[in-house]
Amino acid sequence: VRARVMQVEHSPDVTYADIGGLDEQMQEVRETVEMPLEHPEMFEDVGINPPSGVLLYGPPGTGKTMLAKAVANETDATFIKMAGSELVHKFIGEGAKLVRDLFEVARENQPAVIFIDEIDAIASKRTDSKTSGDAEVQRTMMQLLSEMDGFDERGEIRLIAATNRFDMLDPAILRPGRFDRLIEVPKPDSMGREIIFQIHTRRMNLAGEVDFTELAELAADASGADVKAICTEAGMFAIRDDRTEVTMADFLAAYEKLRQDADTDADDSL
Ligand code: ATP
Repeated sequence: VRARVMQVEHSPDVTYADIGGLDEQMQEVRETVEMPLEHPEMFEDVGINPPSGVLLYGPPGTGKTMLAKAVANETDATFIKMAGSELVHKFIGEGAKLVRDLFEVARENQPAVIFIDEIDAIASKRTDSKTSGDAEVQRTMMQLLSEMDGFDERGEIRLIAATNRFDMLDPAILRPGRFDRLIEVPKPDSMGREIIFQIHTRRMNLAGEVDFTELAELAADASGADVKAICTEAGMFAIRDDRTEVTMADFLAAYEKLRQDADTDADDSL
């Protein structure tokens, strides 16, 4: 079960330079995650406990996972990812056991960054905890809280959690000493989108007239993941046309295509 639901990567290959438009968030993540991993003595000297974890919240595809991977890369830490949704719908006791395993694997692979995506799946405000499924989710969350509370003895392990549903979170998980920083990771603004276009076209063979400022303004509601999809699709248009150079027209066609796809999915992105 471990292997199936837990993704373990030693020093993942994402760097801070791959992330666009999130300078403030990056700074905060570095302070809270990198500092304690690299300079634990500073916290000892000052006489405070290092922050135990950060919670990243914001819409899908904005770079939350990337931030967590980049910190692990920068600190040469093992990146251990688990999705909250993998922890539910399990047999009785299995969710709690997986949480224990998660921290156990981290202990065995220190320094480590634990990333729990979709934490709302196990830590949402429950309206009704009488059904057995909900009781099981509760147990999983209790296990997570207890692991988090025992952080001091844990050594070089940092926890980063992410959610798209901040409003749904159980206040217990937000109590002081659990997540010390709540960091909002919003969709990029126009400048951010422009930078993300530049990042995702670094290796592309571009025609001279491609104008990222214009594209960034056009794709007004795009997330980082949407921008990436536009770049890939633009490349596909060039390939279909048997060209190796990607033109502004390819990007415009890609944007149009993805916008239409989003419409038919009744999804309001782009
Ligand atoms: P989810 O909430 O859906 O898990 P997420 O916020 O964790 O999403 P990521 O998995 O980090 O999003 O992003 C998905 C992909 O979109 C990344 O692999 C990257 O290619 C691209 N991307 C997203 N945000 C950015 C960004 N700020 N800069 C560069 N690329 C980005």
